[in-house]
Amino acid sequence: MQDLIVDLLNALSAVKNLSEISCQVEDEKMLIRQALTSLIQNQDMERCSFFMLDSDGLLTNVTGLSAAELTNSQAWVRKPLQFRIGEGIIGAAAASGRIQHCQNCHEDKRFVVVGAHAQPPGSIISAPVFTLNNVLVGVLNISHPHPNYFTDWHLRLLEVYKNMLGQLITNRRLFQQMELQIASRTAELEGLVAETRRLKDHYASMSMHDQLTGLHNRRYFYDQVEMAIAQHKRYKNPFCLLVMDIDHFKAVNDQFGHVFGDQVLIGVAETLRQQVRNTDILVRFGGEEFVVIFTNTSCDSGQTFAERIRNEIKMLRWNVADKTVQITLSIGLHCTSLECCEPDLQLDIDQIIHCADLALYAAKAGGRDRVVVFRDDMRY
Ligand code: GH3
Ligand code: MG
Ligand code: MG
Repeated sequence: MQDLIVDLLNALSAVKNLSEISCQVEDEKMLIRQALTSLIQNQDMERCSFFMLDSDGLLTNVTGLSAAELTNSQAWVRKPLQFRIGEGIIGAAAASGRIQHCQNCHEDKRFVVVGAHAQPPGSIISAPVFTLNNVLVGVLNISHPHPNYFTDWHLRLLEVYKNMLGQLITNRRLFQQMELQIASRTAELEGLVAETRRLKDHYASMSMHDQLTGLHNRRYFYDQVEMAIAQHKRYKNPFCLLVMDIDHFKAVNDQFGHVFGDQVLIGVAETLRQQVRNTDILVRFGGEEFVVIFTNTSCDSGQTFAERIRNEIKMLRWNVADKTVQITLSIGLHCTSLECCEPDLQLDIDQIIHCADLALYAAKAGGRDRVVVFRDDMRY
């Protein structure tokens, strides 16, 4: 009676240990080895091993554990044994799907000696292990040097143990699958986020750039101008705003075609780009009209820069249909230090542009190809 209680407690301990093994182990063999350890620690067995079924239908001993190894911490090293389904006791367990008990290996005809068995076991129990959806994983094998060693008790314990091991292996595989799925979905999502960000940047850049000349556009201008005004207010930095318009550009288009006109616009944009600093705000405001804000620039300097731009543009040449084309630029300039506007409207950008426009009209009216600085009397 006492022996029975000890056996029962040992069996419960083995099952309890098995239930505590985490299915998050990366390597399935490691998980099986942990299961074998909990079995051998709590049961009086000589050897435990697990024969994993591979895709070729071979059952290979992937991990084994002997009682000696647990006490001496010596690895149980030997060449892995292999059985075909149906071959030997292990193969019979796999083929039948049921536990096989070989009470005396020396007499049982099912027992086959494969490889070099230094000391064939006396008795063996082989228990097939299935996943929850009935896929054979392999065969759990326990052996003892003595024949007729195992009892019904061992058989019943192994029945429970193999089922629990099957469940554990199933959970690990599901967990692993889930991890892989999560990793692949995460990678997919990261790819999508990167692509979305790239597209967003692309469209943001497109919405701020003029496609023909590559210069910034009017939208960018209004986006940036607030900053220039804020700087002006804070540090009392003067700034100059130039409205530049190509003279008689319609005639260029009419005479040489729109495609050529486009080339002229690209050339003018390139020259303007070379004439401004990184801190200045240069945009194609529309059509053949460009605007630049020279930040932190006095009226005198702004006028000098404007004259330089006018001269640079005048020096450009295009060859088309045996002709050499040259253009000129009219520029209206407004400097914040000139106080063109009502005090409360002084820093209204539309007012400033309007003032620069009035100066531009004056430049056109005065004969074109010139820079005119806004004066207050131009309003009337
Ligand atoms: P003004 O000296 O008074 O400025 O005369 P203008 O001919 O330059 O002025 P107008 O406003 O009469 O004509 C501007 C022309 O600019 C009309 C339009 O065809 C042309 N234009 C506007 N945008 C583009 C463009 O993207 N490409 C080309 N090729 N031409 C353009
Ligand atoms: Mg125009
Ligand atoms: Mg024009």
